Amino acid sequence: RKITPKRLQEIADEITERIAGESERGVVADYIPELAKVDLNRFGIAILPVETEECIVAGDADVPFSIQSISKVFALTLALEKVGATLWSRVGREPSGDPFNSIVQLEYEKGIPRNPFINPGAIVLADVLMDNQGPDKAIEQILGLCQRLANDQSMRIDGDVAASEMKTGGRNRALAHFMAAEGNLRGDVEDVLKIYFHQCSIAMSCRQLAMAGRFLASAGHLSGGEDPTVTPERARRINALMMTCGQYDASGEFAFRIGIPAKSGVGGGILGIVPGIASVVAWCPGLDAKGNSLLATRAFEELVRTIGWSVFGPI
Ligand code: GLU
Repeated sequence: RKITPKRLQEIADEITERIAGESERGVVADYIPELAKVDLNRFGIAILPVETEECIVAGDADVPFSIQSISKVFALTLALEKVGATLWSRVGREPSGDPFNSIVQLEYEKGIPRNPFINPGAIVLADVLMDNQGPDKAIEQILGLCQRLANDQSMRIDGDVAASEMKTGGRNRALAHFMAAEGNLRGDVEDVLKIYFHQCSIAMSCRQLAMAGRFLASAGHLSGGEDPTVTPERARRINALMMTCGQYDASGEFAFRIGIPAKSGVGGGILGIVPGIASVVAWCPGLDAKGNSLLATRAFEELVRTIGWSVFGPI
C-alpha cells in the first residue's frame, strides 16, 4: 500500500508522543551493569522506505544505543558468506522456546544451538567468523559490514559495554564451554567470546540501524551499488529466521501481534523488516519479562496496525 513520507512522519510523531506518556516502561537489562545506566525515557523511531534515501525519524532516533542481539543479524550474514549452507550443520533453524541465554537445550541436542539468534547460536557464528583470522579481524569485519551498509564510518563499539559484558558474562562463558566440550566450538573460548561481546557492544542510532538493515527489506539490493555479502537469497533466509526466532521465546507472539520479521536486543532496540517496503527501527531501553523492549514492541504494533503492514496480508 502506498503511503507518503509526510503521512509516515505524522504517524512516527504520533507514536513518539504516545510512548512518551506511558508510565509502565519495563526494566533495563541490569545484568550488564553498563546497560543499566541508560535512561528509561529514551525513545526513538526510524522508518526507511526502500525506494528513498530519506529516513523518517522521530524522538531520539539519532542517539546511539547498544544494538546487542541485533548484531546477530549481521554476524549471520557474514557467516553465510564465509561458509554457506555448511553453517547449518552447527546451528539449527528452529525457534528455541527457551530464554536467549538458556543452556538446557544444548544438553539434549549435543551442543548444537537451536538457531543463530539465541546466544549459543551467535557464539557459534563468532567461532565461524574467527576461523583462520583471529578475533580482532572478525570484530573488524562485523563492524565494517555495519558501517558499509549504513554508509557511515562514524559507528563505533562501546568499549565500556564490551568490558562490562566481559566481566559479567558467566552465562555466555558457560554456553561456550559447553559447546566446546561437545565439539561445536573450534577456537579458543575467550577469543570467541571477545568477538561476541564486542559485536553486541556496537552502538548505533535508530537511523543508522535502519540503513544497515535495509538490505533485508530490499531483497539484498542497495542503492549505492551491490554488495557481495548481501545477496537476495541470504536476505530471504535471514528474514525467515527473524520472523521465527528473532524475539527469543516471544517470537510467536511478535509474529501474531505484529507480523513482520524482526530482531530485538537487550539494549531495547528492535529492527523490523517489511519486505519490499521498508526497514524500521524502534528503541526504548525498558524490557519486558522475555527481554524484548516493552515500548518498542508497542510502537511496532501501532505502526503496522495504522498502516496495515504485515507479511500475512493487509489489515
Ligand atoms: N550481549 C547480550 C548477552 O549475551 C546479548 C543479549 C541479547 O541482546 O539478547 O547476554
